[in-house]
Amino acid sequence: VATSEAELPRLITLYERGIANGVPVELLEPARLRDFEPHAKALRAIHSPSTGIVDYGEVVDAMARELRAAGVAIETDARVTAITRTGDGLELAGRRLAVRARRLVNCAGLYSDHVARLAGARPDVRIVPFRGEYYMLRPDRRALVRGLIYPVPDPEFPFLGVHLTRTVHGDVEAGPNAVLAFAREGYRLGRVSPRELAGTLAYRGFWRMARRYWRTGTYEMYRSLSRAAFARALQRLVPEVTSADLTRGGAGVRAQAVSPDGSLVDDFRIVTGPDAIHVLNAPSPGATASLAIGRHIAALATETFRRV
Ligand SMILES: Cc1cc2nc3c(=O)[nH]c(=O)nc-3n(C[C@H](O)[C@H](O)[C@H](O)COP(=O)(O)OP(=O)(O)OC[C@H]3O[C@@H](n4cnc5c(N)ncnc54)[C@H](O)[C@@H]3O)c2cc1C
Repeated sequence: VATSEAELPRLITLYERGIANGVPVELLEPARLRDFEPHAKALRAIHSPSTGIVDYGEVVDAMARELRAAGVAIETDARVTAITRTGDGLELAGRRLAVRARRLVNCAGLYSDHVARLAGARPDVRIVPFRGEYYMLRPDRRALVRGLIYPVPDPEFPFLGVHLTRTVHGDVEAGPNAVLAFAREGYRLGRVSPRELAGTLAYRGFWRMARRYWRTGTYEMYRSLSRAAFARALQRLVPEVTSADLTRGGAGVRAQAVSPDGSLVDDFRIVTGPDAIHVLNAPSPGATASLAIGRHIAALATETFRRV
């Protein structure tokens, strides 16, 4: 939904991009928007009837079942802490497990740059963790949202902005914000890893990013601490939402690749080496697009590894 005049050209661009890609989208005037989302307020909006929602945990469980049935071994709780090159490949070692491999595909998310370095690569980006916190709409206020209500994304910032999402279980999530996490797996405000935080603070790109985005970053911190500020952001989409309607939900941590010049990498970043492929930035919609990304990486692996 476009809630200001300034957002209208970007909304139209998104609409045109949808049409160009064969997505069945409809441009809505306020009266028509009320047919779909009676409580949303906008100057204009895009309706995307083919948008879907899933319980992603169930998707991953289904993928794991199919992979195991096809003979793939999946190990969890198996952090790789060292990678050495042997005569004919790589040896990945951790506390619990050692694996020999001829080739490596590294998709370690928040630690993808770290694993790339363990494998001898020199990634030109560093992962900076940003926590995304959610609230839930109180059950008696869920009727304010029928589907998914998104703001027009700010092109200056790769994060989407807080939105309202009805889940497959019928509840309504509000969020996520984007606050710097003090540990790569800093799912809670109080989780601090001095070593990882020092690594972030020692990175030149972090300070350049901080200089560029300090205003947005400060506001995000404030909104993380203030439920009223969070509610105000949601009121731009649905004016009737109040802070009393919100209860604390969960949080995720984005693995955001940051370049040495401080820019936030907003596209997928996959680098290849003779015996390894490193997925160094896989932002949203990385989950939705995971099968397509998997196919892309498989093709890349076939092409890259065959050369050696
Ligand atoms: C708050 C939030 C909301 C999002 N919403 C959406 C959405 O609505 N739709 C969407 O499509 N995407 C969404 N995303 C993005 C999506 O989660 C990512 O694009 C996706 O998870 C990236 O997948 P990945 O496999 O690259 O990394 P991950 O899913 O992060 O997986 C990395 C794995 O590597 C493991 N690992 C890390 N280090 C090591 C190591 N040293 N050794 C072994 N294993 C290791 C981790 O434990 C983890 O299992 C969201 C992300 C966040 C944070």
